[in-house]
Amino acid sequence: MSQTLRPNFWQKIALSDMTASEWEALCDGCGLCCLHKLQDDETNEIYYTKVACKLLDCKTCQCSNYPKRKQLVPNCLQLDVYHLRHAQHWLPNSCAYKRLYQGKNLPSWHPLITQDKNSVHKIGISAARFAISELKIKGNLEDYLLAKP
Ligand code: SF4
Ligand code: SF4
Repeated sequence: MSQTLRPNFWQKIALSDMTASEWEALCDGCGLCCLHKLQDDETNEIYYTKVACKLLDCKTCQCSNYPKRKQLVPNCLQLDVYHLRHAQHWLPNSCAYKRLYQGKNLPSWHPLITQDKNSVHKIGISAARFAISELKIKGNLEDYLLAKP
């Protein structure tokens, strides 16, 4: 995929008008959206767990098979503006897509600002601190609850 990004595009271009490369570049690589979450039936509140999708590399927080993720993990969500409008509550507050959708700017540690793709890990925002693959857990997801990031 071409990596041609318009200068400071995130400040000037609406999410719905970004190119595919620009949209992808917004992802800070935190991996938090790849964690399993539980929802309270009565309050609809979302609870994060430390348990990651089987395809997440828990050290780098990268999807280990991004091109085929929908085939291998059918419920993997392809985030788009529609989801931001209707289901952003399950995204972490640090998520660049959620922040821009809410009219906020990118945080100072975002890789597009720092030009360092590891800055999300260095600042301690990413799931690399604690994520455990679903292939390695024992017991139930309830045993791995996490305060919402
Ligand atoms: S939570 Fe947002 S910024 Fe973090 S990996 Fe998911 S889509 Fe990217
Ligand atoms: S398939 Fe890849 S992108 Fe989708 S939730 Fe799993 S690790 Fe994340």
